[in-house]
Amino acid sequence: MKKPAGKTKTKILAANEPSPFKVINPTGSGSGLIICDHSSKRVPRALKGMAIKKSDLDRHIGWDIGTEDIGRHLSKVLDMPMVLAGYSRLVVDLNRAPDHAECMVEESDHTKIPANAGLSKKLKEQRLKEIFWPYHNQITKQVDRFVKKRQTPLLLAIHSFTPEMNNAKRPWHIAVLWNKQEKIAKKLITAIRKNNPGLLVGENEPYTLKNERFKGSTIWRHAEQRDLPYVFVEFRQDLVDTKEKAVQWAEMFIQALQPVFESLAAKPARCKK
Ligand SMILES: [Zn+2]
Repeated sequence: MKKPAGKTKTKILAANEPSPFKVINPTGSGSGLIICDHSSKRVPRALKGMAIKKSDLDRHIGWDIGTEDIGRHLSKVLDMPMVLAGYSRLVVDLNRAPDHAECMVEESDHTKIPANAGLSKKLKEQRLKEIFWPYHNQITKQVDRFVKKRQTPLLLAIHSFTPEMNNAKRPWHIAVLWNKQEKIAKKLITAIRKNNPGLLVGENEPYTLKNERFKGSTIWRHAEQRDLPYVFVEFRQDLVDTKEKAVQWAEMFIQALQPVFESLAAKPARCKK
């Protein structure tokens, strides 16, 4: 028998819940687009906190701590538009291919995620339809806006990493990742080190984009497939876990980006206070 049309039990986002993406400074005049895939720990009400403890959702498994504050500061100072995730990576990881096993994880850093256990194809597709694709379509729209103006935007992917994973301490203060865009990455790394001799900068560590997980991820999709320049940066979470600290690191990052902008012959407008 056919189910009655209208409300289906699989609908995830209620009409009064936030959009799957946020756009900040959409008409910014800077020559780049900031992207924060993991900035939110919000869970749609229908998924009941993913059936995990709130204290687990607050950990790095739920979101990239500090990235929204960093992104907002970059967006303001560089006058760039920014696309932010509306929901937690545990609902659907926007930085994976939709058919990747890690797109909706059943376990993360030793914490079981009951709301993701044994998801049917239909339930997975519903999350992609309501959250994943609207987010990525919005990024495409923002990139298209530059392309229409015959501009080449620099895509800035902002992430953060936990200082300890699987009992291993991660010593880097900041990390720069790349696949094809080695020149830009090295330019940025050189500038970070020159400006801040005490910092330990990870080069494709603790994660690398030269990995099977990269295919289908955000930067693969929106930068490498379109042959656009990009920077993929990871900040260590304990260093950016307050707004004040996040802003300080964002300032350091902006300074180190200057040679990259110069090499791309782009001149981002610095906003007046
Ligand atoms: Zn991330």
